[in-house]
Amino acid sequence: MTESTLEHAVQDEMRCPTCNARQAWSDECRRCKCDLSFLRQCWQASETERLGCLRELRAGHPDRALRHAHRYATFVGATKASRLVGVCSVLCGDWPNARTACG
Ligand SMILES: [Zn+2]
Repeated sequence: MTESTLEHAVQDEMRCPTCNARQAWSDECRRCKCDLSFLRQCWQASETERLGCLRELRAGHPDRALRHAHRYATFVGATKASRLVGVCSVLCGDWPNARTACG
């Protein structure tokens, strides 16, 4: 799995990394029958981190949110997670990392 494999995944839809078929999340590709179960597990784990970050931000705990944001970035890549990491860094007062995250 590459960083970009999850980069284009959204809530309801994904692309098969083997044949590029667009489809709803599933354990098997509708076109090439590739096993997508590991990819789906990774996507679910990334969503858990993203939602955990948002939950901690809402609760007023930016330091905890930043930890979730960094874990989210390990799944989806620094580019896709940059806004989340940047916002958390700003709220933590970590200006150098906020600037790095937001480019
Ligand atoms: Zn496929």
